Amino acid sequence: MTDDGSARSPYLPPPEELTRFLGAAPDYRVDQLRDWLYRTPVLAANEMTNLPGSVRRELGPHLWPFDIEVDQSADGGRTRKWLFRAPDGASIEAVLMGYPQRTTLCISSQVGCAMGCTFCATGQFGFERHLEAGEITAQVAFANAFLRRSPMPASPRRITNVVFMGMGEPLANYTRVRESLRRIIDVMGMGARSVTVSTVGVVPGMLRLAEEPWQVNLAVSLHGADDEVRSRLVPLNERYPLEQVIAAAETYFDAKGRRVSIEWTLIDGANDSDDQARKLARIARRLRAHVNLIALNPTPLSADRPSGTDRIERFVTILRGAGANTTVRETRGREIDAACGQLRLRRAGDAAPLA
Ligand code: SAH
Ligand code: SF4
Repeated sequence: MTDDGSARSPYLPPPEELTRFLGAAPDYRVDQLRDWLYRTPVLAANEMTNLPGSVRRELGPHLWPFDIEVDQSADGGRTRKWLFRAPDGASIEAVLMGYPQRTTLCISSQVGCAMGCTFCATGQFGFERHLEAGEITAQVAFANAFLRRSPMPASPRRITNVVFMGMGEPLANYTRVRESLRRIIDVMGMGARSVTVSTVGVVPGMLRLAEEPWQVNLAVSLHGADDEVRSRLVPLNERYPLEQVIAAAETYFDAKGRRVSIEWTLIDGANDSDDQARKLARIARRLRAHVNLIALNPTPLSADRPSGTDRIERFVTILRGAGANTTVRETRGREIDAACGQLRLRRAGDAAPLA
């Protein structure tokens, strides 16, 4: 049951509630079903070879509640992007990226986002609804089931890393994201240190996460190194100003002993000056944080452009020169809009009536 009491598909029900599909079956059946849903997920119920046919038939129609609306591949098969559609019409994006040592899945936590960051396609779309814990976890299960059938070239055949960097602000959907973390870590068995929650700076959520039992990585999307620049790009900065966000990141670091990372989208003329680089370096040093830079992926509803290559190089040089660990992120899947809500935005545009 969902919060509003409506019945949803049983796919990835809480692991504690599996008996309802099995009736009076013995306990080991529950363990088997849990394994098929969480540990070695499959795309079709008839692959659950050790379960009786009756159970498989009952599960079959419900196993995967999302229609796969879009399934695209890019970068020579090393990037895969899905747009799932839930029964209520909500779109859910997930992106799978294969690297030599890891296979990373980027998942969504909400349909749309209420935070309104100016440069973000999801933000431009607005907020539709939260994703349920089962819907968040199901993205990981689906991708693992997919990988078992179709591995990516020269990458691990299982998801090794999960990042909450798809649509939505995970810490604005705290309870459901927390439950999805529990299932991903405690039930699926992924290492907490392989999971990254990315936040735009929802300070109360950062402080709550610091209290949780898991050592998940925290990525803080900063984009501005003083309140003036940050507020222009990230409206939430008016509510939780930079200093509070940095203090919450420090609390997280102290509680977990895990360095946070700072995400920074480089936007031409908006946050790529020498002054911002110097101020960012000070923040990064204070937090002993790693800085991940990414050039803006342009969105249809904004005139913002990515910083030029020379600018990016200079920004990096200043950061590194000031002792801040810095990586420039590769922009994966650009040709399939594999950035934060972009595929969905484009589909929405396609569906708009022609005037
Ligand atoms: N809401 C969370 C997580 C989802 S966004 C957050 O903001 O951190 C994941 C990352 O994608 C964030 O770091 C965000 O700044 C970045 N991002 C959003 N739109 C982008 C774009 N158009 N180009 C490049 N990065 C973008
Ligand atoms: Fe929401 Fe993150 Fe996009 Fe900002 S960048 S609008 S917080 S999804």
